[in-house]
Amino acid sequence: MEKTLKKSCEECGRTVDTRPTVVDYQGQEIFVFHPVICRACLLKLCERFAVRCANCGGPIPPFTQVGVHPGTDSENRFVHMNPTCSTVGSAFHGYWGKGKLYNSVQIEAC
Ligand SMILES: [Zn+2]
Ligand SMILES: [Zn+2]
Repeated sequence: MEKTLKKSCEECGRTVDTRPTVVDYQGQEIFVFHPVICRACLLKLCERFAVRCANCGGPIPPFTQVGVHPGTDSENRFVHMNPTCSTVGSAFHGYWGKGKLYNSVQIEAC
């Protein structure tokens, strides 16, 4: 694990001295270790890049794990990585970043 080093916010350059950055976005707590980001910028990014959960319809904020199941259309469908939403047949999971998916991993069929 990384030691607590003073870093600056990737978006605005302000010093961020507490990590993870924690914000409450529409009733969901979001903890972000990477990237280094201040709370104000994180909230802005949530508003900009949150996607809708295909199961519960709630927002999935950026910088969180998501379940992905290829939809019938060309767009991937995202679901929350929680027991309620991730059981709807998601075939992949990944890390939702700034409007795109990182580290998409296929879940072993079982
Ligand atoms: Zn910032
Ligand atoms: Zn959901």
